Amino acid sequence: MGARASMIGTEGHGARTGHEVLQRLRERPPTIWYGGELVKDVTTHPALKGGVHTLAKLYDLQWERQDITLYDSPTSGNKVARSFMMPKTHAQLQSVSRAMKVWADYTFGMMGRVPDYINRAMTGYAAGAPFLAEAGARYGENAVRCYEYLRENDLCLTHTLIPPQANRAASMANQADPYLSARVKEETDAGIIIRGCRMLATLPISDEIMVFPSTVLKSGDEDAPYAFGFCIPNDTPGLRFISRESVDYGRSHFDHPLGSRFEEMDALVVFDDVFVPWERVLLYRDVKRCNEAYARTGAVVHMTHQVVVKNIAKSEFLLGLASLMVNTIGAEVFQHIHEKLAEIWVNLETMQAFLRAAEADAALDEWGVMRPAWNPLDAARNLFPRLYPRMVEIIQQIGASGLVAMPTEADLKGPLVGDIRKYYQAARAEAFDRIPMFRLAWDAALSAFASRQVLYERFFFGDPVRMAGALVTGHGAQIKEYADKVMAFVKQNRDEAFAAAEVG
Ligand SMILES: Cc1cc2nc3c(=O)[nH]c(=O)nc-3n(C[C@H](O)[C@H](O)[C@H](O)COP(=O)(O)OP(=O)(O)OC[C@H]3O[C@@H](n4cnc5c(N)ncnc54)[C@H](O)[C@@H]3O)c2cc1C
Repeated sequence: MGARASMIGTEGHGARTGHEVLQRLRERPPTIWYGGELVKDVTTHPALKGGVHTLAKLYDLQWERQDITLYDSPTSGNKVARSFMMPKTHAQLQSVSRAMKVWADYTFGMMGRVPDYINRAMTGYAAGAPFLAEAGARYGENAVRCYEYLRENDLCLTHTLIPPQANRAASMANQADPYLSARVKEETDAGIIIRGCRMLATLPISDEIMVFPSTVLKSGDEDAPYAFGFCIPNDTPGLRFISRESVDYGRSHFDHPLGSRFEEMDALVVFDDVFVPWERVLLYRDVKRCNEAYARTGAVVHMTHQVVVKNIAKSEFLLGLASLMVNTIGAEVFQHIHEKLAEIWVNLETMQAFLRAAEADAALDEWGVMRPAWNPLDAARNLFPRLYPRMVEIIQQIGASGLVAMPTEADLKGPLVGDIRKYYQAARAEAFDRIPMFRLAWDAALSAFASRQVLYERFFFGDPVRMAGALVTGHGAQIKEYADKVMAFVKQNRDEAFAAAEVG
């Protein structure tokens, strides 16, 4: 059991091509269940293949744009993905975000889980290995070895953090079944055995999974069996993914331009007595360390850096789309339309400003890594969940009935093509240009793909309510500085009033 998972060395061939990505997914398929059946080949399965082939295309793209996206591995000299870089300078840090933008642009930010998201997380964990090693030297060594293994083999990871949504009023230990949420069932000389489940993993169509702590563990022995962090292959015995229904309807790129390409899939993760060898374990039974790990290692900062790059790509896409729609139907004559375009523009500029500030104010952290400044990134991750649904709403407001009164590819090839050419024309576009544009708008604002994107942006980085709570707590000292300043003014007014009264 677990023989594959225990064999990790740090050698590899560096950055992969799309062909290699597909080949590995065929040879070592993740254990994905879809519609009550085990998926034999994710590269051909109708619900998944669109996203899988886009993933492969991204790996080809990194070779096509290698001057931006790859760098020389410090250990092997191989070309490896730049999203694994531990930047030491501001210029290197900016080179990482430029590399991440190449993939974000290709997907218009619609695949939030392109591999560089977890690449940044694992880079953070490896950089902060000394923090993990405080609990035992092996945990730090494991973090570095896992990271180098992933980097040198250019593997693609999903990740899972949160417990299942059974009873949110009770801790993991106090659910109806203590093994509802994944927990340590047994510990042996060789490793640990995990039983239970985690709520969600986006991109199960990947090679490995990073199973890390959610940051809501309570202190104390009760939560210790739920406190762990490890990475294992997606074909590890006992590990299985239960997929949601696909938002790729199996239609053409014409009919379903986003869903047919960028379905990354979300799945519940079951651990049916999964064996995890010690060399794969980075955190173990240390509740406090688990709760602090993302922040102390810098992993959360590096991940948010990727997220803001994605937000920029997504805002650029929506601005471009909105402007095309407006121009096509002659809606630019209305003032409120300008206001709406301006709103998206401001959102885009805001995200760009956050990114620039985070990079300009970056500083070497305690691990010697150039870490982006957290405050602008934290503000961005709290703001975008509100901006994105609003931008989608703007696409709906601009498109109106044009979003639903759109024929399909089959209609355009059918006997009513004469009607279609005539009645779907627009002020500045022929029907055959206007229709695919508005189908794209439908897929961005109305389809199942679109509404999953909105849900994703609302929640993928955590519950916005609790993120806001963390922001207020985390920036408490700074907020108090402003409160003190205002209080001084309040006191000044009070003192002036009483001094005046005394004089009177
Ligand atoms: C599309 C999508 C993709 C995702 N991908 C991943 C992934 O790849 N990996 C991963 O680990 N996670 C992923 N997530 C999960 C994400 O981390 C969670 O959605 C997020 O942390 C919120 O948790 P929840 O969904 O369980 O909501 P719940 O915690 O169940 O919250 C439900 C409601 O109750 C409220 N609530 C619950 N607890 C509290 C509390 N203590 N205080 C105040 N209000 C509370 C919430 O505000 C919310 O309104 C994804 C989510 C989505 C929607």
